[in-house]
Amino acid sequence: MELYIHIPFCVQKCKYCDFLSGNYDVKLREKYTYALIAEIESYKERFKDETITSIYVGGGTPTFLEVVFMQRIFDAIYQTFSVDQDAEISMECNPGTGSLEAFKIYRHMGVNRLSIGLQSANDDELELLGRVHNFEKFESTFREARLAGFENISVDIMTGLPYQTWNKLSNTIKKVTYLKPEHISCYSLIVEEGTEFYEKYKEDLELREKDLDTVALPDADMEYELYKRAQSLLEEKGYHQYEISNYALEGKECKHNIGYWKRIPYLGVGLGAASLIDEVRYTNIRDISSYIERCEKEESVRDEEIELSKRDAMSEYMYLGFRMNEGIVRQEFFELFGLRVEAVFGKQIKKFENEGLVKTAEGRIFLTEKGMDVSNRVMAEFLLD
Ligand code: SF4
Repeated sequence: MELYIHIPFCVQKCKYCDFLSGNYDVKLREKYTYALIAEIESYKERFKDETITSIYVGGGTPTFLEVVFMQRIFDAIYQTFSVDQDAEISMECNPGTGSLEAFKIYRHMGVNRLSIGLQSANDDELELLGRVHNFEKFESTFREARLAGFENISVDIMTGLPYQTWNKLSNTIKKVTYLKPEHISCYSLIVEEGTEFYEKYKEDLELREKDLDTVALPDADMEYELYKRAQSLLEEKGYHQYEISNYALEGKECKHNIGYWKRIPYLGVGLGAASLIDEVRYTNIRDISSYIERCEKEESVRDEEIELSKRDAMSEYMYLGFRMNEGIVRQEFFELFGLRVEAVFGKQIKKFENEGLVKTAEGRIFLTEKGMDVSNRVMAEFLLD
């Protein structure tokens, strides 16, 4: 089983962010820490026979939480669960939060992978995004993490930013790859409702939907071009793509995320965290005061529970699997569901094979490069009613 821990605190809200995070004061951060610990401990009996194969501490900005609180959270994790000694333990970090001292303590706590949110190496873009740091700050955070002994670092960058040109994006990729992180996530900006960006760029979004010329946001063709050029520059620099938005040096793929795409059960702890246990998808409540209150009263913090049918699980296995370059493993499908994948999805596989979008080889079924470009359309057809 995998474990996800949500830390919903950030220095300030970025203009494009719709994650569950905010700038709460230290009193609330402390209360949240104890609530989170109570939630962790409440699972002791239920998961006593499970082994945790990976832990991902995400947010928010986990490195913004006081180190002493984080230590207490980790103490609770180790006292509650049996954590595999080779577990990948990742923590998200934003430049300017964390210090050499803090990074050394995280390493000591067992954190062996750091995921740093950079987004862009161009200071004007960072300002536009509402990030609190510049590129120089990122460089010093990166170096301190290395000095503290992090040998597995991932860096997040973004494509599709307002006014982004290939020059700007390639500058980001070149500056990041120069530092040789082991992993790079390259996400497309999605302008979500409820964010400052949505208000600012909603006209562009409407134009884009109508296939008309946009002003600030790249249009669909430009977005595609940026994605493809980023893909080849990253490959040229030695980073192989293993998932739609993720690239890694050989052997440095993120195990936690692969587990998620392969539908390994996971337990999410903390505000708004999601879990998948015994084919039931749970989501925790999203209001921080209620979350703390319920944890204090030892009440359940689960908000939603959706029981997945076998058909739901099979569909999910297919469309999550197709996100990865290696696709899905036919034998694994059979072992999980007791059916041959062709018996369930034969029609779709044949159709997309004929169109050159899907390929079958060496016991795997995966999207071709052409298929990856239209992955949403392909994945949609694997949804069973
Ligand atoms: S640092 Fe990340 S989680 Fe925090 S506000 Fe910015 S985008 Fe959102």
